[in-house]
Amino acid sequence: MINKDEIESLNLEKKDALEVLKWGIEKFHPKIALACSLQAEDVVILDMMSKIVSKPKVFVIDTGRLHQETYDLIDEIRQKYDLDLRIYFPDYREVEEMVNKYGTNLFYKSIEYRKMCCGVRKVNPLKRALEGLDAWITGLRREQNFTRERIRKVEIDEVNGGIVKINPLADWSWEQVWEYIRQNNVPYNKLYDKGYKSIGCLPCTRPVKPWEHPRAGRWWWEQSGNKECGLHYREVK
Ligand code: SF4
Repeated sequence: MINKDEIESLNLEKKDALEVLKWGIEKFHPKIALACSLQAEDVVILDMMSKIVSKPKVFVIDTGRLHQETYDLIDEIRQKYDLDLRIYFPDYREVEEMVNKYGTNLFYKSIEYRKMCCGVRKVNPLKRALEGLDAWITGLRREQNFTRERIRKVEIDEVNGGIVKINPLADWSWEQVWEYIRQNNVPYNKLYDKGYKSIGCLPCTRPVKPWEHPRAGRWWWEQSGNKECGLHYREVK
């Protein structure tokens, strides 16, 4: 393992995305995996990983409420890349208990219920997906939200047992992401062609207008700007 001071001494903040990813894979493979939510950033990283290592480890959390376009993309990346891909589902007993008690669409009723659903359908399966890993890779970028402004390219994930969290695209812009996708002919989620800018579960995501914040379509009925599902918990000061 590696500690915070050792990470800082490596000056990884100055390295580009591919260099950061190479460093992570060389250090942690096979105990490193990409958390792939089938968004534009994830397919960029997936494409880069496939150029660095054979059968890169990737996991998808299937909440059971995803869009058909997202499922189609899973098939597409499976065909195009030689991946060690695992799909994690929520525990059916937890889902049954939750929906029988609070309703199938409980998330519209209150923030508390919405967070409960994200906990059951996303955060708990994530914990299982991270078991046995020393590091995980995400598509987080600083400009996505104010809750993400302080992420580092490589950091210690205190919330998930102190393993390493690698955010190779932390300093990338939205335009850079799409330039990479176009130049490298990377398969992408077709919801982007329908006005979506950030993609989550079907009932909790809508397309956004060009002038709206990219994450305005996530849990759009909530007023808070702190719209996170808990997968990337970070205290906002
Ligand atoms: S995004 Fe919506 S449907 Fe998906 S886990 Fe969270 S509350 Fe549930």
